Parts: sequence; C-alpha cells; structure tokens
Amino acid sequence: MRIYDTMSRKIVDFVPRKEGQVSLYACGPTVYDHPHLGHARNAMTYDIARRFLEWAGYDVHHVANVTDIDDNIINRALKEGVTEPEVAQKWEAVYIDAMDALNILPPHERPHATDFVQEMIDFVQVLVDNESAYATDAGVYLRVRSIEDYGALVHRTHDELAEGAGARVEVDPNKEDPLDFALWKAAKPGEPTWPSPWGDGRPGWHIECAAMSLGIFGDGFDLHGGGTDLVFPHHTNERAEAVAAGRTFSRYWMHNAMLNIDGEKMSKSLNNFATIQDVLNEHPLNDRALRLLLLQTHYRKTLEIGVDALAQARAAIERFDAMVRKADAANIDYTTAERDPNAVAEFREVMEDDFGTPEGIAIAFEVLRRANGAIDNGDESASSLVATVIDLTGSLGLRIGGSQQSGEDDAEIDAMVAARTAAKENKDFAEADRIRDELTARGIAIEDTPSGPIWRR
Ligand SMILES: [Zn+2]
Repeated sequence: MRIYDTMSRKIVDFVPRKEGQVSLYACGPTVYDHPHLGHARNAMTYDIARRFLEWAGYDVHHVANVTDIDDNIINRALKEGVTEPEVAQKWEAVYIDAMDALNILPPHERPHATDFVQEMIDFVQVLVDNESAYATDAGVYLRVRSIEDYGALVHRTHDELAEGAGARVEVDPNKEDPLDFALWKAAKPGEPTWPSPWGDGRPGWHIECAAMSLGIFGDGFDLHGGGTDLVFPHHTNERAEAVAAGRTFSRYWMHNAMLNIDGEKMSKSLNNFATIQDVLNEHPLNDRALRLLLLQTHYRKTLEIGVDALAQARAAIERFDAMVRKADAANIDYTTAERDPNAVAEFREVMEDDFGTPEGIAIAFEVLRRANGAIDNGDESASSLVATVIDLTGSLGLRIGGSQQSGEDDAEIDAMVAARTAAKENKDFAEADRIRDELTARGIAIEDTPSGPIWRR
C-alpha cells in the first residue's frame, strides 16, 4: 500500500506500526446544524479507505470524534434558548442518520469531546509543567515557537505563519506571541465550563482531538485523516501539542480535497450550501450516485457536484443494478462463484496506489461490460464476472442490485414486469401494453432480452 502523506508531500510506502493492523483517526463533525456535502465527502473518503483496507486484509481500528462543545454550539443554544447538550444531541442524531443513509460505516469508536475533558486537562498540565504552555487570566496557551518544526505539516516556517496570523486578526493581548493558541479557555458568562487547575473553563478545539486520539490509541497511531481545510491550523496544532508533550502522534497524514457545486466553491454566502438531506430528497438513487461521484474523483482532487453530474451517476448506477437483475432473470448463481483473478489483481493494484478509486471503479465498469456480454451469450464466465462486479463495488461501499431506499418499489415493479410477461404469453397484448405504459409513466424502461425482460429507472 502506498499513500500520499501530507507531511512528506509525496507518495510513500504505507507501513503501519503493527503488521496487518491500521489505526485511523478521522476528525468528525461539530454538531450544531444540518450536515452538508462537505461532511459527506469527508466521512465517505475515510469510509472508502477503511473499507478497501479491510477488503485488502487489514484489521482497521477507525475512530472518528464528535465535537460536542464549541462556539457554534454555544451560539445556537443561546439563540434557541436550549442547553448545549440539547443542541449537540439533536444534531448528532441528524448527522448519524445522514451517514447511515449514505452507507457510511459507523466508526469503531465515536468519542465525544465532553467525555474526555479530564484527559484534556491532564494533557494541558503536562504542557504547563514542561513550560511549553503558560497560564493567563484568559486561559492556557501553547508556546508555539518552543516547537522547532511547528509548521512541518503545512510546510511553513514560524515567521511565514506569523505573518499570516498578524495580518488576519487583532492579536489577543494575553498571548506572548501572535502564533500561540489556546489550549484551555477561561469561563465566559453563560458558557458551559469545567473546573481546572487554571480556573473554570473549557478546552480548545485542537486539544480535544489530540487528547481523544491519544487517549484511545495510547502511543500514537497510523493514519490521521481530515479535509484539506484542517491542515492548518487544526492538525498543525494537534500535532504541536503531541510534540510538545513528547508523545508519538500520527505516522501518516491523509487529507481529502473540497468540493464545488455547479462549478462554484460551496459556501454559505453563495447560497449553494447543499445539505446531505437536500441531495437525498432529490432522487432515491442519490445516496449511491453521490458515492459513485466521489469514487470517480480521486480524494485529493476537487469534487464537482451538480444536477447533471448526479444524473449521470444515477444512470451508471442503473447499469449496475440492471446487470444484477439480468443475471437473476437468467438464473445465474453468482453468490458462490469465484471472482475473476485478473480483474481483482488489477483493482487491488490501482487501489493500493494512494486509493486510486477512479481507476478502481473504471475496472468495475469494464467487468460490468464483459458480464453483460457473457449473460447475453449464455457464456459460463457470466457468474464469475457478475460476482467480481459485486465484490469490487462492494469493497468501495457501493451497493448494487437495488438501494435500500427503493427496495419496496423494486418488488412492486418486479411484480408488474412479471404480470406483463404473463399477459404476453397469454397473447393479451392490450394488457401487456397497458402495464408497459404504466411503468413508463413511473419512469421505468423495459428492455426485452434473450434471457427475459430487464427494467431500469
Ligand atoms: Zn480534529
């Protein structure tokens, strides 16, 4: 396995600390609003990475946190006159529903920041004790310049980063240096707080992930994931905290690119801020269409999403589904068939090269084409080819042969298609045509093939 490592800025051999085992920490959401397509891309990137690694034989331990205390949650609670835990619990449930709808596997562990406050305090104490951090009335800050390679992940020197920091915001007078950042924030009126050796307060965001990841994995871990928007400051600061505490942190860093909607960067100000639910509501196949679009774009490239791209992806999904139905209609037993060894080896090779999903899914399409030909010709390779398509797409989390959301519909349409076949056999062509018209009205096309009729949406 080879992987692009943000730290070394090149594709490197991926060698986990323990052979055959991968510990993966992916930054999760701050829960205070509807999850949007950026959340979907982020979570799905690590879902696909995990699924492929598991398919390839690794034992993966996937941890993704929930940030359940932060400024946005506090502001929303204030605005709605409810408590912060009420806001966080409500939106975490919405987030998990959206992830389930997108067939994203739940992480093995989903730590919540508020459950790790003691670990965070202990972590900060270590940093205060070794003088990499200092306490003020406003909270505790990390002394960034005490960490020599602080900017290693973002490939910037202290001075280059300080220029940016100085230009961006008014410098907090409590800081010794503009680059320093808060590990612990002193209590402000009306905010949720926890007692600490530095007075009541709450943790900063970066110490949350450092304390949760190391709290769970102990002595470092293999792979840290997140969006490219987290490289600086979030991941840079998480790492700085670990380095300052003398702790081993992540061995490799993986970052997924952002996305454009209809050619424009997704942003609230552009009003093209699509929620996952908007996309799911638009069409019952969009859960899988979205995953296919993601697979067709390498995770380090900007993902282009739009009405047309989703429609094209749905058409491609239907080709997969139609193949399975056609194989079923031809009574091909693909459940116990051997996979095509060449296709599997090719797939593994492109996927082991930094998760080459566009090439991987292209191989699945090529096998799909061959499978359709084999079914039509009654070739005995059909069962193996169908099994291969199902295995390769499945290893990437793409369900084929019908989505959960359209499951009930499928049975009804199957029954109508069967009734039409029966009508034709009884030479009741008026009834057969009536059923076909009804199916057409529902957006279902029927194709009569030598092995029986195939329908698709
Ligand atoms: Zn994080």
